[in-house]
Amino acid sequence: MKVYIDGKFYKKEEAAVSVFDHGLLYGDGVFEGIRIYRDRVFKLKEHVARLYRSAQAILLKIPLGEEEMERAIQETVSVNNKKDGYIRVLVTRGDGELGIDPSSCQRAKVIIIVGDIQLYPQEYYENGIEIVTAASRRIPSDCLDPRVKSLNYLNNILAKLEAKQAGCLEAVMLNKEGFVSECTGDNIFIVRKGELYMPAPHHGALDGITMGTVVELAAAFDIKSHQASLTRYDLYTSEECFLTGTGAEIIPVIRIDGRTIGSGKPGTTTKRLIKAFHEFT
Ligand code: PMP
Repeated sequence: MKVYIDGKFYKKEEAAVSVFDHGLLYGDGVFEGIRIYRDRVFKLKEHVARLYRSAQAILLKIPLGEEEMERAIQETVSVNNKKDGYIRVLVTRGDGELGIDPSSCQRAKVIIIVGDIQLYPQEYYENGIEIVTAASRRIPSDCLDPRVKSLNYLNNILAKLEAKQAGCLEAVMLNKEGFVSECTGDNIFIVRKGELYMPAPHHGALDGITMGTVVELAAAFDIKSHQASLTRYDLYTSEECFLTGTGAEIIPVIRIDGRTIGSGKPGTTTKRLIKAFHEFT
């Protein structure tokens, strides 16, 4: 494995950052997770654009232009000779002093790692997963906009721990008002009367690229999608529920907080979208 750091490639064992990097000290930075399907980087432009929007929102200057970043990502994929895999792009604030002041950091650090992806085990794609509602609420979107894909995932990690303690693989998070926001690493959709409903960024959801792809695929089937304020009641009484994300792709949910969703098996709309997604990627 060869890791890209600031324009150079390093062996995995030699790829390292300083202990004074503000990405490590404070989670100060942004990132993207991207898939490679059959030699093609999936939605590269969209991911790079989101990375730059995240950086812009936190006043982080990335020392490469967007096109240079796309080329660096493609080059890292080629150097690693990966035909199917996962790319992690990180931009940290860089090395600085021990205080939080980012002005002590002279230059942002760009890291690109190409590895493998750990999807949920196949049986869950066929049979669906069970999720729980986490007690940890999503950080309000007016405090930290969920569209910023930052290196600080502690809020999500706390909810993930709750999922694990409940014996589940994922947990759904509510915002301060009690509306559904998203899962710890995935967006959430429900199906009602054959149409799709999902929380919006102002509810605390990341503007997911897989979510956008699903909305486009649904539109091609004449299935309407709506951003909506959803409560737990809406989840519990939905006809179908599924999660989307770069790592997860589309995964059916068949039980939420002990309530069986629909027939307790992945629904027809979910299965149709999974099939269309595989054909598309
Ligand atoms: N929400 C969160 C919190 C995420 O970290 C992710 C990415 N893993 C998603 C949603 C899904 O976004 P995308 O489809 O762009 O990967």
